[in-house]
Amino acid sequence: SVKRRTDERLGFFDAAMSYAVTERLTLERSIKDALKAGQFELFYQPQVNLKTYALVGAEALIRWRHPELGIISPDKFIPVAEESGLIVPMGTWVLRTACRQLRIWNDMGIRGLRIGINVSGRQFHEHDLPDLVADAISESGVNPTHIDLELTESMLMADGEGTLKMLRALAKLGVTLSIDDFGTGYSSLAYLKRFPINTVKIDRAFVKDLDQDEDGRVIANAIISLAHSLSLKTIAEGVETEAQAALLARHGCDEIQGYMIGRPLTVADFTAFTSSYIARGRDVDTRPRAAQ
Ligand code: C2E
Ligand code: MG
Ligand code: MG
Ligand code: MG
Repeated sequence: SVKRRTDERLGFFDAAMSYAVTERLTLERSIKDALKAGQFELFYQPQVNLKTYALVGAEALIRWRHPELGIISPDKFIPVAEESGLIVPMGTWVLRTACRQLRIWNDMGIRGLRIGINVSGRQFHEHDLPDLVADAISESGVNPTHIDLELTESMLMADGEGTLKMLRALAKLGVTLSIDDFGTGYSSLAYLKRFPINTVKIDRAFVKDLDQDEDGRVIANAIISLAHSLSLKTIAEGVETEAQAALLARHGCDEIQGYMIGRPLTVADFTAFTSSYIARGRDVDTRPRAAQ
């Protein structure tokens, strides 16, 4: 009968749902255990100045080094960490670890590097975020101007006054603030002027379109012009080819990050990368021919 078939479908639906819920709870529990067991690790992806190709910074990107499954990317666990609230202790760990690592590099003679740290929506709405950032900075003794917090558009759109207060409290610590994945969120541009933001990170989607067609170029160019007219710096994410870098350079983009320069690297590999990059004078060697 129709009823029976409907029940069967509903039953199937229920089973699928509860499977999803169980799976989610299992993952949540595993994340909790992994935090305790110290299975999370930060990788660092180089960022360079697009005029000189000098190494200027690195973005810290979390990875889960799972004992059986190997390296797990953040897309697999950040959403569950967000939903469950585990992102808050995880985010605090990220802040402290990145600051501590910057201090280690400073002590090794790698100076002037800026570290980009991703902040999640949930973390941003915790009132003690400025205190946590202040603690991570004082504990490690790093220069706060070398810490860049990456926020997303959706966080900034949420509630006007609370957001402004939080941004001011963070800026007061001396850190810089970036908008990550710029252009993918709700496009009210008014906040760019109103908020104490320093940098716009142009989303990979627009960079990908750069060497495809004229429309791609128009959007990237518009973002760069807008940012510059508001005295904001621009970093393009996901730059994979010299052609993309050359087009970005022509539009006056300030910095780039992407596989063309380097993938996210372990601490050991990033440390090796910095010395080889400098030793090889790569600021000259990697410059795209078109931009020379
Ligand atoms: P995101 O902050 O926009 O980071 C950039 C992502 O683009 C990274 O992915 C990076 O590996 C990838 N990428 C960089 N260059 C290229 C390129 O040339 N080509 C391609 N195809 N991809 C490139 P990843 O590491 O998988 O991180 C994904 C997202 O997870 C991040 O996007 C960020 O939103 C989130 N995430 C990562 N680490 C953290 C963290 O510590 N805390 C929080 N809250 N979120 C994090
Ligand atoms: Mg980011
Ligand atoms: Mg991004
Ligand atoms: Mg992204």
